[in-house]
Amino acid sequence: MALPSLLSHSRTRSSVLREPLRQGGLRALLAPWDPPSVHPHDRAAERACTPPSTGSSPPPLDWTRLGSRTISSGAGMSLTQYGLTNHTLTSQRRSYWTLCPQHSSFGPPAEIATKEAQHSVDDSFGVQQRTFGSAAEPIQRNPDYSVLNSDDVSYFKSILGDNGVVQDKDRVAVANVDWMGKYKGASQLLLLPKSTNEVSKVLAYCDSRRLAVVPQGGNTGLVGGSVPVHDEVIVNLGGMDKIISFDNVNGILTCEAGCVLENLSTFVENEGFIMPLDLGAKGSCQIGGNISTNAGGLRFIRYGSLHGNVLGLEVVLANGTVLDMLTTLRKDNTGYDLKHLFVGSEGSLGIVTKVSILTPAKLPSTNVAFLSCNDYMSCQKLLLAARRSLGEILSAFEFMDRQCIDLAMTHLEGVHNPLPVSPYKFYVLIETTGSDESYDKAKLEAFLLRSMEDGLVADGVIAQDISQASNFWRIRECSIEATQGCGGATSTYS
Ligand SMILES: Cc1cc2nc3c(=O)[nH]c(=O)nc-3n(C[C@H](O)[C@H](O)[C@H](O)COP(=O)(O)OP(=O)(O)OC[C@H]3O[C@@H](n4cnc5c(N)ncnc54)[C@H](O)[C@@H]3O)c2cc1C
Repeated sequence: MALPSLLSHSRTRSSVLREPLRQGGLRALLAPWDPPSVHPHDRAAERACTPPSTGSSPPPLDWTRLGSRTISSGAGMSLTQYGLTNHTLTSQRRSYWTLCPQHSSFGPPAEIATKEAQHSVDDSFGVQQRTFGSAAEPIQRNPDYSVLNSDDVSYFKSILGDNGVVQDKDRVAVANVDWMGKYKGASQLLLLPKSTNEVSKVLAYCDSRRLAVVPQGGNTGLVGGSVPVHDEVIVNLGGMDKIISFDNVNGILTCEAGCVLENLSTFVENEGFIMPLDLGAKGSCQIGGNISTNAGGLRFIRYGSLHGNVLGLEVVLANGTVLDMLTTLRKDNTGYDLKHLFVGSEGSLGIVTKVSILTPAKLPSTNVAFLSCNDYMSCQKLLLAARRSLGEILSAFEFMDRQCIDLAMTHLEGVHNPLPVSPYKFYVLIETTGSDESYDKAKLEAFLLRSMEDGLVADGVIAQDISQASNFWRIRECSIEATQGCGGATSTYS
């Protein structure tokens, strides 16, 4: 491979998309664990307690080893989540892999995409697939929850005004379905609050009337958490999209939870900063939704998770209580850090209404390389080598297999494979960002040459202009969109 001369640039990428909460709170959360008493209407309960598709009850788990957590809900019940990641909160209808060398008794082994992949993974770990929900009994609506009536609608109108209460069938239908069209609810009502006070009044009322609620952001989530199971009232935060303040010395942004991620990116970039997260859904997803899913995204390797970047939150609990944790203090060691409970809790503990978040400085020099590797182990070694050799300038390392590339080429308009058609099975996108153009460029080129000599990289190309870099990124960012071309699929991402 001849390494072409590099043109440093700022990356610009187009947006891909446009377009029950229970009370109980923290006191209950800290209560001792009781055996699960499942309330069939509660999403979290369903997710936590729906047995695997075999129909048998989950076998007893070793709580310490598997990291169980207990979540309490408003009806006085205690939900135990058989969870390993935050996404299990909305994984009720999704299956996922458990890599657990010691604990081999949970669920039957199931098919992995390819036999080859199965063998290679099986060699290293005990693998079980756990499937929650899809093959289980239909979820029954709990009759203890009230049905919306005209008095409720009148009350909501008195708080939110006519524009904040949407009953129009077409608009409600859009909010009832996730963007991949996999999950569909039957809500009759979409509420659009414009302030924390309005959210608080809505939730207090729903609590008193026992109306189930589902919080919704940009509705880009991939696991159905943002749409109702039955007829929950949908509370969408899209109307709360104000930037409250920006501290351009410390790079601290404070805003409402309904701000669209891309708008925040544009705003802070104009101030010489960047958002610590970036993902394909940025044109539609909201910062409140990002926080509630603990989104990772393309900058994760450099800037880490939202647990590190979110400095403060304002949250409304299901009974309407406003929890003000909206600090901007970076080193806050004054006791319990409750905001972390809400990062990744998928709206199960409260509605996030305001956010303060740390934004890193924008750096002037960006380089992007698109590489192919012969085998998976080479990709792993390449990651390690990139961390060691590129160090502080490594800003993204994205892994894709050939199926992912093929999907993108087949289903996305205007996307080109920058490498010649080849037998390579795996691809890696590497991005560096730094402050010294010639130094960064030389460093990346030297690293790539070394990696080729070591046999870690089979072929590769470095973007020479913004449009090439955008094309590389589009392959990665639109891979989820591309899966829709073949009927939709579950994907994994950082
Ligand atoms: C094309 C594409 C690429 C993606 N790439 C990545 C990736 O690289 N890495 C990654 O980690 N994820 C990725 N995702 C998933 C992404 O993290 C989520 O789609 C996004 O964070 C959800 O934000 P949202 O505003 O759309 O929330 P929604 O989808 O509306 O809601 C998601 C969950 O959060 C809850 N919620 C929403 N807003 C609030 C609020 N204000 N308060 C409380 N609860 C709330 C909802 O009830 C639901 O449970 C991708 C998604 C798409 C579509």
